[in-house]
Amino acid sequence: MLIPFYSFTAQHDPLRADVLAALAEVYDTHWYVLGEQVRAFETEYSAFNGVGHTVGVGNGLEALTLALRGLSIGPGDEVLVPSNTYIATWLAVSHVGATPVPVEPDLATSNLDPARLAAALTSRTRVVLPVHLYGQPCRMLEILAFAGQHGLFVVEDNAQAQGATFAGQLTGSFGHASATSFYPTKNLGALGDAGAITTDDADLARRLQQLRNYGSTQKNHHELLGYNSRLDELQAAVLRVKLPYLTAWLSQRRQLAAWYNEYLADVPGLRLPAVAAGAEPAWHLYVVHTSHRNALQRRLAAAGIGTQVHYPVPPHLQPAYAYLDLAAGALPIAEDLAATCLSLPLWPGMTEAMVATVARVVRSFAAEVSGLR
Ligand SMILES: *Cc1c(COP(=O)(O)O)cnc(C)c1O
Repeated sequence: MLIPFYSFTAQHDPLRADVLAALAEVYDTHWYVLGEQVRAFETEYSAFNGVGHTVGVGNGLEALTLALRGLSIGPGDEVLVPSNTYIATWLAVSHVGATPVPVEPDLATSNLDPARLAAALTSRTRVVLPVHLYGQPCRMLEILAFAGQHGLFVVEDNAQAQGATFAGQLTGSFGHASATSFYPTKNLGALGDAGAITTDDADLARRLQQLRNYGSTQKNHHELLGYNSRLDELQAAVLRVKLPYLTAWLSQRRQLAAWYNEYLADVPGLRLPAVAAGAEPAWHLYVVHTSHRNALQRRLAAAGIGTQVHYPVPPHLQPAYAYLDLAAGALPIAEDLAATCLSLPLWPGMTEAMVATVARVVRSFAAEVSGLR
């Protein structure tokens, strides 16, 4: 049985007619940028998240960048970021001229460890930027308490966690602002690049509407040094067709994760994803850890099973961040996670039999490896 790392088939095939009709409708309106589709999607996405405002933008990186700009974060400011995130989180901080200050994650959950925030705090710290990595919610109550104590903003990176909850509340609704991505393979994906910022702050929402559109919400009047980062009408129309299915796709993801937990229980040398108390993940990815990661990945590939590594090199070891002078060994937890993590296939439409097949290959690999020790 061939099992791809990801497949759109079960999500997109049944929606083909509806999506093409939505695209045709936009085609025929002759209105392609910042129109009725974007406005309607913003209202619908706000309702889904239980927030006051959504501002649709070009992609997830720009959602993060504009959220920071909207809060007037800039040169001289420090932003606390996880050491083991996708590089976009750090790039957004760099793009506004601020400094990313890495904080090591909890080894078990791969998420920002609230207990480590205090040691990273300086007089320049302005923002905590938790990332709900792999769709696992961060321990938001402790993070909010820390931020409140020290007068910091909280900006969530919710790109992987649409629909996850912590203490019964949706991620993307805790922070002063929250950025998300609708990159095609995210839990809610467009047919190209798209992103959004959610917030309960009406003034911030207004600034973000200006920032995404040349600093302007009124033609030929430019209040801010803005960008061009607009969610376009075609992508908004597609997202409006897909959003009503997100809850059903999330339950499928949760069922698949539960099957993995069951079929992979007690495999020697394999660490399964840990979920923080009070967290209900969105299971964007199902990530296991083993010191034999590369060999396991090759073995699964030989059996026709696709996997990926999220992410093999942490941001501080990328050439782009060489100037920070954080050499190998500087952030040992991030480096350990990068060397041992492996993402198994998980997508709506995947079956229990497929999970069982993946687990069978993993188990027989583990048996051989312990035999070799
Ligand atoms: C995908 C992703 C982003 C960036 O989103 P794009 O739309 O690809 O720019 C940012 N942060 C995280 C954690 C992501 O997974």
